[in-house]
Amino acid sequence: MCCSLNKKESLSSSSSSSSSPPPPPSPSVKPLPSTTVTTREILAESEQPEIQEKLPEPEEELTIDDQDSNVTCLLDPIEKQHSTRKCLVLDLDETLIHSSFKTVAGADFIVPVEIEGHYHNVFVLKRPGVDDFMKRMGELYEIVIFTASLSKYADPVLDKFDLHKVVNHRLFRESCHSYKGTYIKDLSRLGRDLKSVIILDNTPASYSFHPSNAVPVSTWFNDQHDSELIDLIPFLEDLAKVDDVVDVLDISF
Ligand SMILES: [Mg+2]
Repeated sequence: MCCSLNKKESLSSSSSSSSSPPPPPSPSVKPLPSTTVTTREILAESEQPEIQEKLPEPEEELTIDDQDSNVTCLLDPIEKQHSTRKCLVLDLDETLIHSSFKTVAGADFIVPVEIEGHYHNVFVLKRPGVDDFMKRMGELYEIVIFTASLSKYADPVLDKFDLHKVVNHRLFRESCHSYKGTYIKDLSRLGRDLKSVIILDNTPASYSFHPSNAVPVSTWFNDQHDSELIDLIPFLEDLAKVDDVVDVLDISF
């Protein structure tokens, strides 16, 4: 096994920093209150009644064994050309990008999102190295973006984000297991062998059902000196070749 499989040191090195003065806001959209909230929080507040209807609350805490094993898989069967690949599940917000309803100078792209009948611009910053990271991962893995955000935001963002067209599946909030205000990404529902499933997520609660399948990553906002995604490439290149990712991730993190 290559020594690059132990990434503990590089995974805790990133931090955020303040941004430059913003340019004038676009006159074509309704500005939102100037508060320090993330896109996900705003969408969650505005869509909460709808979300609660879609996501049944568990009566008591569920374990993996409690869950219905006959539940429909979240992913379609693996495509033939990816049949030998492992499945890399990537979180979106604060793992690959950071989005804000506040004007952000130097945003990589801007996406209009409809909230309660009004369109608002979402300013998206890409984590340094993310395009190269995605390109290389797309050569090695079946790629799933699994986000707790709503599709009305994440879908148009991914349309612009996925430059190399390497994202094979998109999963949104309704695919998460909702429990006490936390959105858990239940990897056992993907329809893939868990020996071959890896999740990268900046929020440990997201993978609390399957911590041994996780590669922790730090939360990213706008630090342009961050190199975590690029630093992870050698580790993930090696992980793509092992028989059981759990064996490796159990001792690496
Ligand atoms: Mg996240």
